[in-house]
Amino acid sequence: MMKEKVIFLVDMQSFYASVEKAENPHLKNQPVIVSGDPERRGGVVLAACPLAKQKGVANASRLWEAQEKCPEAIVLRPRMQRYIDVSLQITAILEEYTDLVEPYSIDEQFMDITGSQKLFGAPEEIAKSIQDRIMREVGIYARVGIGPNKALAKIACDNFAKKNKNGIFTLTKENMKTEMWPLPVGSMFGVGSRMKHHLNRMGISTIGGLAVFPLD
Ligand SMILES: [Mg+2]
Repeated sequence: MMKEKVIFLVDMQSFYASVEKAENPHLKNQPVIVSGDPERRGGVVLAACPLAKQKGVANASRLWEAQEKCPEAIVLRPRMQRYIDVSLQITAILEEYTDLVEPYSIDEQFMDITGSQKLFGAPEEIAKSIQDRIMREVGIYARVGIGPNKALAKIACDNFAKKNKNGIFTLTKENMKTEMWPLPVGSMFGVGSRMKHHLNRMGISTIGGLAVFPLD
């Protein structure tokens, strides 16, 4: 029998803002926003740290709106080269656990740890070890979604690991129906707003509804 794959999606919390906070300790307890063109109030929020998000600041909102919600926020301009360098540093950490690492975006990376378990332990132990190393070496909190394929790993991360206390969540064939099926169909990896609209019009509102919908 073929061994079930174990795929991780490792996501950095508020990546640009976290890099800035990690490198500037005086920002630690302050709400931080990284924004394009901070000189113009029409700039867009590229990242907000959790303290700023608590005040209602959302990614991709206008800077002036963000500053209305959180006037005390420290606004920084992005240092893209630095974020790319840190992202590559994180890739190098992940590559110590497996040679199957696939950056998905600047702050999210897939990895296949199917063959790494003899050396490094059970999936959740590996996830914890990765979180600890990223925190120790780059000062950033990473969340890990785990699943038998990339789609489930990504869904596990976005919908569960990010909301979990320990930042780790595993979707399996066993808990898929109870945990994932009740989610709105727009939470499905690959379903964007247009597809969601089409599916909703077909009467499909949840991932479970999509799963049981007759194929033809
Ligand atoms: Mg992220």
